Amino acid sequence: MLTCKEQVARSSDYLDGQLSFREKLMVRHHLMFCPNCRRFIRQMRLMQATLKAMPEKPEEGVDALAERLATQRRDDSP
Ligand SMILES: [Zn+2]
Repeated sequence: MLTCKEQVARSSDYLDGQLSFREKLMVRHHLMFCPNCRRFIRQMRLMQATLKAMPEKPEEGVDALAERLATQRRDDSP
């Protein structure tokens, strides 16, 4: 069975579907018995999904967000 450290090292490849069949089985086996790594994988998957959902040009997104916040603050003031 993999150690947690070995498991973590394979996590991103696992999520990307880059592991060989044998390694994938080893990871799945570890996840079955290790709640900590299950939680870790779940968080990584969530983070990947968040990154994919972000705009392709992050700086534009940040600018727009800053502008919106500034506008909101102006609206709030009496
Ligand atoms: Zn583990």
